[in-house]
Amino acid sequence: MPDEKVFNYINGGWERSASNQILEVINPASGKRLAEVGFSTPSEVDRTVQFAYQAFMDWRKTPAPERIQYLFRLKDFLEENFNTLAEIITLENGKTFSESKGELRRAIENVEVACGIPLMTQGGFNEDIAPGIDEFVIRQPIGVCAIIAPFNFPGMIPFWFLPYAIATGNAVIVKPSERTPVTMHKIFELIDQLDFPPGVVNMLHGGPGTVNALLDHPLINAVSFVGSTPVARHIYTKAAQNGKRVQAQGGAKNPIVVLPDADMETSTQIIADSAFGCAGQRCLAASLAITVGEAKHNFTEAISDAANERIVGFGLDQGVQMGPVISTQSKERIEGLIQKAIGEGAQAIIDGRGTKIKGYETGFFIRPTVLDNLNPDGEVAQTEIFGPVLGLLHVNTIDEAISLVNSNKYGNMACLFTSNGASARKFRNEAEAGNIGINIGVAAPMAFFPFSGWKESFFGTLHGQSNHAVEFYTQTKVVIERWPKEWSRKF
Ligand code: NAD
Repeated sequence: MPDEKVFNYINGGWERSASNQILEVINPASGKRLAEVGFSTPSEVDRTVQFAYQAFMDWRKTPAPERIQYLFRLKDFLEENFNTLAEIITLENGKTFSESKGELRRAIENVEVACGIPLMTQGGFNEDIAPGIDEFVIRQPIGVCAIIAPFNFPGMIPFWFLPYAIATGNAVIVKPSERTPVTMHKIFELIDQLDFPPGVVNMLHGGPGTVNALLDHPLINAVSFVGSTPVARHIYTKAAQNGKRVQAQGGAKNPIVVLPDADMETSTQIIADSAFGCAGQRCLAASLAITVGEAKHNFTEAISDAANERIVGFGLDQGVQMGPVISTQSKERIEGLIQKAIGEGAQAIIDGRGTKIKGYETGFFIRPTVLDNLNPDGEVAQTEIFGPVLGLLHVNTIDEAISLVNSNKYGNMACLFTSNGASARKFRNEAEAGNIGINIGVAAPMAFFPFSGWKESFFGTLHGQSNHAVEFYTQTKVVIERWPKEWSRKF
């Protein structure tokens, strides 16, 4: 079991927040208390940033090959503690053990990619841009960086940023979600054993007040955020107003298009995993399935069966395929949206409301839900549900399907299921979303690709992971040089 208390990690040491604002961390499968977390105050934020800034001044001068040695050891520690960390994710987030292991695998993959920083930060050099004059570009770290994370991937999302930020020579402050802070606490226990110079890697717990103090702090130079769209917009606006570099990934409402020529059996399994995996609490969860022509009947029947068959329960129990949603408020909100969709004309052909799981009666469970004939102009078709609910829409042509996809205000992911290469090519070219899946239900980029996102799913220019993260955490400096020997000869 995790620790009862979750502490801040500041300047290489553990500190309990002096705040009297405390939140209980709840196991969503049991509804029982797991831990408690304090909301760091503006003065705790200020102290941490000051320490981080001091640490940055030396860390930036530490050669990159030396900096990445810490990452190699971090990878080893994460591997050695893999199952323990995955268990903690399941306990505080609710997802199944295998889903928890999946997110940790991607976290580790990001550490591995960031170990290539010495190559990835190479600049460019032109000799003799004019007689005796050379010009080159170098990449330098940006300073103290804040990483603000959501609850749904507590072990993975900080790693879209953290390994790149420190490998490129920055100091970081991680602010995990206050609803799932235990995973990062455990990971920071491992980081603590790596003996980073104090202040290079810090963690502050808290909520909006803590985040806003980070956004207002003049010594924070870059902000990486992942969370819901309204908060992403707020972070982007406030951080930019304060002159910071910012990347803010937001919410989603992901459409999946099923053509009649798709392999219906395999496609349905993949789409069910996308819609109901992680209890639908994935920014890449399928939320709308748009069938084209004859796909309607086969798919509607097959997805209803898949939804019905999914085994729901406590994520550490054998055979469980889907866990609870994060909180009782979330469960109520999702159940309210199902009711609203019905009010807007949809039929709940599979209705997961009011679920009770034997032995976990106080958990926040909703079974998979399928809403047929969702009103495309209704509120629910436009709203991120973030629960195991799939809405079905039916059209006659791929063009109609693509125009429905593109009418979505979000642009995180869009997927197509087909056996036709020309349809796939058309979709890939025309669909307005940052991550595209062709016969893939969760188009989650590997760590060596950026995690994209368009429209209201992303505010900024450079995304997390890979070369985008490297560019985000570095600033380019262009140098033009002439040396005395040359100017005496040519000038
Ligand atoms: P959230 O927006 O409620 O919280 C995210 C973070 O912002 C937390 O650390 C929280 O403390 C902080 N925060 C919350 N309200 C704030 C405020 N008013 N001011 C400043 N900070 C504030 O998100 P969540 O519920 O934890 O996560 C789920 C959301 O994240 C979903 O919308 C999901 O789609 C999105 N998400 C997006 C991606 C992506 O890559 N686009 C990935 C994962 C999750």
